[in-house]
Amino acid sequence: MSNRDYDSLLDRARERIPEDISERSRWTMPTPDILIEGSQTILRNFSEIVDAMDRDANHVFQYLLNELGTSGTIEQFRIMLKGKVPPKRIKEKIVSYVKTYILCAECKAPDTRFLREDRTTLLKCQACGATRPVRL
Ligand SMILES: [Zn+2]
Repeated sequence: MSNRDYDSLLDRARERIPEDISERSRWTMPTPDILIEGSQTILRNFSEIVDAMDRDANHVFQYLLNELGTSGTIEQFRIMLKGKVPPKRIKEKIVSYVKTYILCAECKAPDTRFLREDRTTLLKCQACGATRPVRL
């Protein structure tokens, strides 16, 4: 057995460890801390949420603006959105970001990375190795 065969067997074995995947699936997101102040809505723990997502803050921010149909600014740890945005809607959009850009479609693990291939971007799961295309 060559070293290469051995390595690929090992890789396949590691991928089949269910505890590993279930361990990762226990990953949770911080609860969004949302405050409506006058005519703006503040997501106070934005940076904490982005850290848990392990995604680019600007990408998450632009997604939220587009989905909520508002404008806003990023400050150090928080984001300010124009208008009174119902907290429920912000939470829904955070969940849909996670479903669209983070969770593996096969095993539901959150441990995924963007992988650029030519003109498409794939979401590659570090737990099971599955890939699916995503639109950034
Ligand atoms: Zn997976």
